[in-house]
Amino acid sequence: MASSWAASDRLGVLRRYRDYLPITEATPLVCMGEGETPLVRSQRLEARLGCGPLYFKLESCNPTGSFKDRGMVVAVAKAIEEGQKAVLCASTGNTSAAAAAYAAHCDLRAHVLVPKGNIAQGKLAQAVAHGAQVIAVDGNFDQALSLARAITDKHPIALVNSLNPYRLEGQKTAAFEIIDHLGDTPNYLFIPVGNAGNITAYWRGFVEYQQRGKATKRPRMMGFQAEGAAPIVLGRPVEKPVTVATAIRIGNPASWKGAEAARDASGGVIEAVSDEEILTAYRLLAQEEGIFGEPASAASLAGLFKMSRQGLDFGNSTIVCIITGSGLKDPETAMAIPTEVREVPVELTAVEKAIGVA
Ligand SMILES: *Cc1c(COP(=O)(O)O)cnc(C)c1O
Repeated sequence: MASSWAASDRLGVLRRYRDYLPITEATPLVCMGEGETPLVRSQRLEARLGCGPLYFKLESCNPTGSFKDRGMVVAVAKAIEEGQKAVLCASTGNTSAAAAAYAAHCDLRAHVLVPKGNIAQGKLAQAVAHGAQVIAVDGNFDQALSLARAITDKHPIALVNSLNPYRLEGQKTAAFEIIDHLGDTPNYLFIPVGNAGNITAYWRGFVEYQQRGKATKRPRMMGFQAEGAAPIVLGRPVEKPVTVATAIRIGNPASWKGAEAARDASGGVIEAVSDEEILTAYRLLAQEEGIFGEPASAASLAGLFKMSRQGLDFGNSTIVCIITGSGLKDPETAMAIPTEVREVPVELTAVEKAIGVA
């Protein structure tokens, strides 16, 4: 039975970390090769920042292009174990992409509620391509999530938002991988914060691994919201969140308390970065490191620049920035970078002239 899911030569989250996950004999070991994402050393920004070793964890390398796969594989496996035939989520995009893909892989129906007009094209394309039913709610993410809860309370459909406890269990495995790669915990973890599930999950992972003797210390958790969607920073929900970083355009985070607990227990911060700071970091990441993350992902690097400007000394610190999702999800933002596309006739000399070797 289990072997029918072993479609990949990679172990996947469920098999690699089964001793740390709520898995039973009856849990199908679903796998699309999620996890085991690269931890890439910075080439240029590390020197620019004058910090210790700086790494980027490329969660964009997961099967659907974001970290959401780590939690979704656990949530979907448990839904199958419990006999469910359908999953439902509210989503700013990446959760729906992951739900749609894993549901298709496992022959479940998927319904996704997206906030109308507030979702990046690439993510919507994924949900559509995988055959999910897409329902655009004429409201924001927080309202769509309320509806998702009400429907799954009432009908036999698995809710696969991060309110589903299996999601965070799967997501915590990214913290395990960082320790497995580095040999110990980094000093700082920089991470974007939207619904705040991921920062909560990473903290849980770091704490658990240390308790099991796999690490000697815990990192400072450095979470960053977008200025126009910064409820945790402001200490109150934001009714109409606005930011270019659609994946963190959230006004009332489901894991608000978890994020505050991670911040406080780790001696970290949750702060805001402006859209301008996010887009600057987004371009630097792409142009000086070769890493194409989506705008929300760049909030982690924008936060590192901000803390550095404010005088925090990262000189001897090991730092990990989480690149939560792929830049390909949001081509509109990339194409807004001012560029000049030169048109030339089909002539060698014209091309030579254009590239400056004539
Ligand atoms: C979901 C998501 C986030 C935010 O994570 P939360 O757990 O909601 O805080 C950030 N970046 C990307 C790319 C995401 O998909």
